[in-house]
Parts: sequence; C-alpha cells; structure tokens
Amino acid sequence: MEMLLQQCPCSGGKGSPLLLLAVVAGVWLLASWIKRVLKKKGDTLMNKIAKVVIVVVLIAAVIIVIAVKRNQSGKDADAATDAISIGPVAVGQVPAEYKPENLVGKGLPALIDIGAGTCIPCKLMAPILEELKKELAGRLVVQFLDLNKYPGVAKIYDIRVMPTQIFYDASGKELFRHEAFYSKEDILSQWKDFGVDLAGGQLQSPTFERLVPAKIDDRPKDAICYMCDGDINPKTLVTVQTDKGPVRLCSPHCYFIMYSCLTEDKAGFEKRVSVTDWAADKLMPAASAIYLYALDSGTGRPTVKAFADTEKARAEQGTSGGNIIDWKMLQGKELAARCGFCDRVVYPEDAAVVRAAGVYTWGCCSHCALGVAARTGLDIEVNEHDRLTGEEIVVKTLNGSVAPLEPATAVAWFGQRMKPDGTWGSAGCFHQGFFVNAENLKKWVEQNPYETGRLISINQALADKMNLSPQQIQKACKIGECAPK
Ligand SMILES: [Zn+2]
Ligand SMILES: [Zn+2]
Repeated sequence: MEMLLQQCPCSGGKGSPLLLLAVVAGVWLLASWIKRVLKKKGDTLMNKIAKVVIVVVLIAAVIIVIAVKRNQSGKDADAATDAISIGPVAVGQVPAEYKPENLVGKGLPALIDIGAGTCIPCKLMAPILEELKKELAGRLVVQFLDLNKYPGVAKIYDIRVMPTQIFYDASGKELFRHEAFYSKEDILSQWKDFGVDLAGGQLQSPTFERLVPAKIDDRPKDAICYMCDGDINPKTLVTVQTDKGPVRLCSPHCYFIMYSCLTEDKAGFEKRVSVTDWAADKLMPAASAIYLYALDSGTGRPTVKAFADTEKARAEQGTSGGNIIDWKMLQGKELAARCGFCDRVVYPEDAAVVRAAGVYTWGCCSHCALGVAARTGLDIEVNEHDRLTGEEIVVKTLNGSVAPLEPATAVAWFGQRMKPDGTWGSAGCFHQGFFVNAENLKKWVEQNPYETGRLISINQALADKMNLSPQQIQKACKIGECAPK
C-alpha cells in the first residue's frame, strides 16, 4: 500500500540556513566597504553614524531573511492549523463503517472529518469533534476517519489535503467541504448557513421529575416481590434461601430473573428454592414439583403453576390448557431468552425487540435495549412500546447517536432511587420505560405512586450507555445488581 504524506513545509526548507549565511556575509562586506570609505575621509562623526547604519542594516537583513523564509513556506504563519497535502494513495482495505454509504444519508446530517492522528491540525480538530459528537447526539453524525489506519479513505472521499471536513445533508448529499483546521464556531455557523437547525428538537424536550414518591410504600415487606416490587400472589410465591436470608419472589419467572443475575457458583442452587403448590397453597422444593406451563391468550406471556400432585396438575390443565413439564424443562424455557445488554432472562412478550446487524435480541427494559448498541458497537433498531398505552416506539441508532425517532416526541423515564449514601442511582430495569410523549409519561408516573426518577431524552438514555467503559459494560452483563443484599 502506497501512502505519501507530504512533509508539512513549515518544518523548514534545507536552503534556509545557507540563505541566512549569504545575506549576513553580504551585509558584512557592505558594512566593511562603507567603513573603509569613511575611514579614508577621517570623519569621526560620520564614522559614528556609519556604525548605527550598519546595525540598522543588519537588523533589516535578519527581518528580510525571516520574511523570505515565511513566504517560501506559503501561508504557514499559522502552520499549526494549516492543511497538509496528500500524495497518491491506493484504496487498500477500508472498513465498511468508514464508507460513505454507511455513514451518511441515514436521515441525519453528517460531518465527516478526514485526517490522521499524527498531523497537528488534525489533533487540534479532535476535541472539537468530541464536543460536537456529544452535544449534537441524535442530531448530527460526527465521525473522524483516520488516514494513518486506512489511507484508502483519501481516495474514497477524493480528498487532497488533511484535515478535510465534509458536510452532508440528511439525505447524504454533499453540501460543502473545507480543508485545514476548522473551528467549532465556524462549523456551527456553516451548518446554520445551510439551514440545518442543530439546536432544536430533542434538546428542548420538557423537563419533568419526581424525586419523592407520591405515596409511601407501606405494603408489608413479605408481600412485595424482591425482583419486580410487584404484589406477591400467595399461590405463585417462590422463596430462595440465601446467605443473606430468605428472598420472596412473586413467581417462578422473577426467580429465574434473579438466577440469571447471580455471579456466584450456581451448582445445586435449586436446592435453595421452594415453590408454592397451586392446589394446596403450600411451599415445596422447586426441583421435585411439576409445572403446568401455558400461554396467556391475551398477552401471549407464559403462565407457570407448580404442583406437587400430577393428578391435580392434569385437572387444572383440563380447564386452562398448557403442557405439564418438569423443573429442568421449565428452567430451559425460562433461561432461553436473554437481555442483549445485561443478560437477564426475559419473556420476549415483555421485552423491547432489538435488531443488531440482522440478528434479533431483546432489551429487558428500554434502557437495556439501547445498551445493546454500546455492548456490540453496532447500529441497532429498537422496537419498544409505550408503558402506558402500548403504542409502538422505534429507535434507530447510527454511530452511537439516535437517528430519527418514531414518533419524534418519544421520551424516556429514567427510574432512579436515592441510595443510602444520598446519591441517585438507577431504580433497576423494572422501573424504566419509553413513552410516545411526555404527557403519557406523566400519566404513567401518576398511576405509579411509588416511582421516582426523571424524564430524559432518548438521546440521553443512549448517551448514558455509550459513555460506559468496556469494564462497566462487562459488569452490567453480570452486574449482580439483582442478587440478594
Ligand atoms: Zn416479581
Ligand atoms: Zn437488561
């Protein structure tokens, strides 16, 4: 692969020291000649004037040399922000994500900056691009393409110097290109000149928060599911003996959610689990029960009832339908579908559907669904439902930003709780959600008096995930957040 980056001329031509020497020598000869002439005349006053003239001539000579040198290197008075020419390059390997068809024309305007990590003006561009990327998430695609890594980018985008910034409209049409360093102010005013409004839209989404629950949760602790905070139906209660005491769960499904979050060695874990016999309302070891596994005709969600006695299970099957399975088979079904971000088990009927590179996965909550973009590094499409009305919300991401939202008014609820140390943390996956608009969100919050948190833009929800470090993402997949404390 051939890549000729011309030396930045500001680093100095080889002729410069010679030129300086020649000028100094010339001035010195001239000065000596004047001195000799004046000495012959023996005029001491003139001699003094001559000395001053010589000094002035010398200073002028030095200034001339510097000016000549600057002229020689073109306009490099601002060398640090100058563009650098690029010689002929071969296309070579350019990854798909660097190609225009994957960066522009995806419904958002785009700013593509092409340069190299080693070039000074390119380095000066880097923090500006970072700022624009963060501040305009969801409104502008900002991407730096590194010629050091992929020289062929120069050919694909037909650029002659670096850095070059190319402006594209939302349909992918090139609007403008600029060569050399380009300030943030100039970039923003350039977009303005093209009539692209980068300040509007999502930024002005209404703010709303509720940091104190509308009602104190005074339900007895025993009646609340450890996982979902829902009411426990005594007929489907599951208990788990843990090192930190017994944990009570509303259903086998909430048990499997907890199980999928545990980071400890889970060999023989089922010995700690008891389920409630649907027929006798009595606890019994989970592994020895049989289960009537049916699908709710309205929601399509599985319903799971445990039985100690096969005859009783058959009788129930006669009225509610379904299949009789054992603990192992139930476990296999329950653990099959996972959140693509945090790895918790989900019922697909409850989850957000996530498509990444043609592969489908789920988000156990809407925020986790966005986290799939962070975990995989891929552009994703999320299909989620308004928690109040069930209306569909589609979120597409592009290079870590939200591409146009359907509907554009959609917002996210970030369920938060105050931690014992006084700081605010996530209230967990059961307390998050998307809504088609802020009004629906407010109504839902009113209907759920225990919820605390705030309205955030879907851009923000995505940015929160994209800003996680790989270590944090790794931890989120086995965060242990749901393990008994
Ligand atoms: Zn539950
Ligand atoms: Zn999740």
